[in-house]
Amino acid sequence: MEITVRVCDVCTDPTRAVTTYTVTDQDGRSGSTDRCEVDGESLATIIAATRAVAPKVASSARTEGKKPGKKATAPRRRRQTEVMTLEQIEEMKRKE
Ligand SMILES: [Zn+2]
Repeated sequence: MEITVRVCDVCTDPTRAVTTYTVTDQDGRSGSTDRCEVDGESLATIIAATRAVAPKVASSARTEGKKPGKKATAPRRRRQTEVMTLEQIEEMKRKE
């Protein structure tokens, strides 16, 4: 009988559940690593952050080479010319 247990590449603790992460660099080289929850925390954080940034954008951005960081400046500029709410206008009148 043969039992194969996947263990974390860092701590090799067989009692910990592992997740396999595949890492790819900008040159297209890739490798994979098995990590437990503790040792894979930084990798899990990257995945969580990528998912939070709208997954639809991620697929098109990859082909166009755009970085999601550019988006952060656009809404800020728009906010200055955006229509004010009645409450904001009333507040400005009070200050003047
Ligand atoms: Zn580990």
